[in-house]
Amino acid sequence: MASYDITHHSYDVIVIGAGGSGLRATLGMAEQGLKTACITKVFPTRSHTVAAQGGIAASLSNMGPDHWQWHMYDTVKGSDWLGDTDAMEYLAREAPKAVYELEHYGVPFSRTEEGKIYQRPFGGHTTEFGEGPPVQRTCAAADRTGHAILHTLYGQSLKNNAEFYIEYFATDLIMSEDGECQGVLAWNLEDGSLHAFSAKMTVLATGGYGRAYFSATSAHTCTGDGGGMVARQGLPLQDMEFVQFHPTGIYGAGCLITEGARGEGGYLTNSEGERFMERYAPTYKDLASRDVVSRCMTMEIREGRGVGPDKDHIFLHLNHLPPETLALRLPGISESARIFAGVDLTKEPIPVLPTVHYNMGGIPTNYWGEVLNPTAEDPDRIAPGLMAVGEAGCASVHGANRLGSNSLIDLVVFGRAAGIRAASIVDPESPAPTLNQASLDKALERFDSLRHASGGTPTAALRSEMQKVMQDDAAVFRTDETLAKGVERMYEVAGKMDDIKVTDRSMVWNSDLMETLELTNLMPNALATIVGAEARKESRGAHAHEDYPDRDDENWRKHTLARVNGKVDLTYRPVHLDPLSVQEEGGIDLARIAPKQRVY
Ligand SMILES: Cc1cc2nc3c(=O)[nH]c(=O)nc-3n(C[C@H](O)[C@H](O)[C@H](O)COP(=O)(O)OP(=O)(O)OC[C@H]3O[C@@H](n4cnc5c(N)ncnc54)[C@H](O)[C@@H]3O)c2cc1C
Repeated sequence: MASYDITHHSYDVIVIGAGGSGLRATLGMAEQGLKTACITKVFPTRSHTVAAQGGIAASLSNMGPDHWQWHMYDTVKGSDWLGDTDAMEYLAREAPKAVYELEHYGVPFSRTEEGKIYQRPFGGHTTEFGEGPPVQRTCAAADRTGHAILHTLYGQSLKNNAEFYIEYFATDLIMSEDGECQGVLAWNLEDGSLHAFSAKMTVLATGGYGRAYFSATSAHTCTGDGGGMVARQGLPLQDMEFVQFHPTGIYGAGCLITEGARGEGGYLTNSEGERFMERYAPTYKDLASRDVVSRCMTMEIREGRGVGPDKDHIFLHLNHLPPETLALRLPGISESARIFAGVDLTKEPIPVLPTVHYNMGGIPTNYWGEVLNPTAEDPDRIAPGLMAVGEAGCASVHGANRLGSNSLIDLVVFGRAAGIRAASIVDPESPAPTLNQASLDKALERFDSLRHASGGTPTAALRSEMQKVMQDDAAVFRTDETLAKGVERMYEVAGKMDDIKVTDRSMVWNSDLMETLELTNLMPNALATIVGAEARKESRGAHAHEDYPDRDDENWRKHTLARVNGKVDLTYRPVHLDPLSVQEEGGIDLARIAPKQRVY
């Protein structure tokens, strides 16, 4: 192995990732006086959160009556009864507080006539426990909400003296012999130096792994690095088989057209010009939840009613809306439609197709963000020294399907919760852990062997093989046959990691090596997804299994845990059914959220 000079750092807390969740956690930790560093492979305001368009859900009641219990009910139903009840209650109850905090930090929300935060309707968000009309719950800064949030949180973090290590790539966690996280090894892309960070608490906020698929709305940096790091330490990933397809990715380009477009009155049509969602979801129509709309679109296409020369996509109409509304409320997607589809959306419909958008699964945590390392005896056992927040984590509030605008709120509610929790368990006076040399050496060896990898398969070739298998076989609709074939193909693809070829051996901005490290992270995420999907013999949320079209609560209302080490080892843990507080204490009426058929 080449010898490497390593610079050592020590902190109370290190946060890996500077998206909405990482910045909210960083800010919370720093505000409470913890010595905090945030490590990020891209400049903070280039994290994928910057692309979030439609908004952030909270029951503020600015534009009609709303209640946190209705938000909780919608989240429970959206999750298809797989989310953890305590975490979903925490999310819905804390959401208004978290949004007002954002407002006070300076997020430039769009405003109503009276100057309140503007809220728009979004899919699956309703009133009266699903019995009333759609609610306007999604707080928005035009259609650039993520952009506004990210810039504000970055400014506030700097103001509170958080330190940033920008364009540093975290490669591996450093763990003690008995499984306590002690920090991380990171590679400074700009000058090629290596850095070992020791911390009393390490927070993974590394985002999703959309790039395991061929067509995704997520940034090319969404490579599931946190999941990869956790998997290499023998810790499990949870509910990875649930992958959200967003109904409206631009056909061909994959870029997102926000659900806010349908919230503002947009609708879908097939080749017969029919508004087909009225047939499938008579009440909420185009504003049914995402898994439902994506499946209906796929069915229309399969039955020969797709649009375009190949009848392989659907139209989204906004051309009936006043041009002023489009300019005021949807300026960003007006631009995206023009650039990526060549469409003037004041005049023509946008060609769209369901596109991979969000990972419901991730690193299992409790609602404080603490990572879990469950055993059969203790399904809620904590992995000390480690937290996960944002899309990388799985608290689990989205269960089998996430509602639109519930991710941004998840980022800030649980980023904030992680800060509160860390302040109560991290002692600023105690010394930072001394890094376990064996664990550090192992991380260095892995880095060095990938840097010098001299097999026959270039990273880009293997990545695209993986993406094609996932796109074909872990798709909107799944069958026993496609999944079994997919598992076999994915194992074959993953096996080729041993034959990987890195051409560039340098240390400074070696994007070949960085993409290879990312591929080593995508691979366990992809494997856990398809193996978990093959095992789950039911349909729930985003997991639509044609051989088992019904949800099976008796056998399958449980979380999948996947430990990936060459092979994928599956176990299960129970869903949390108890809320934080019951009706008598001002909490939720459990009868209201009992499982039932999910129709919109
Ligand atoms: C196009 C688009 C639009 C969306 N719109 C909405 C919306 O309107 N409302 C909503 O609720 N949700 C929306 N979502 C979902 C939501 O935006 C994401 O789930 C969320 O932003 C993820 O935030 P995050 O903090 O978990 O991670 P990200 O924002 O993805 O950030 C990940 C961070 O981790 C860092 N990182 C990763 N790996 C490493 C590593 N190895 N070393 C160092 N740093 C690393 C990156 O540098 C980055 O800073 C949208 C998603 C997309 C893709």
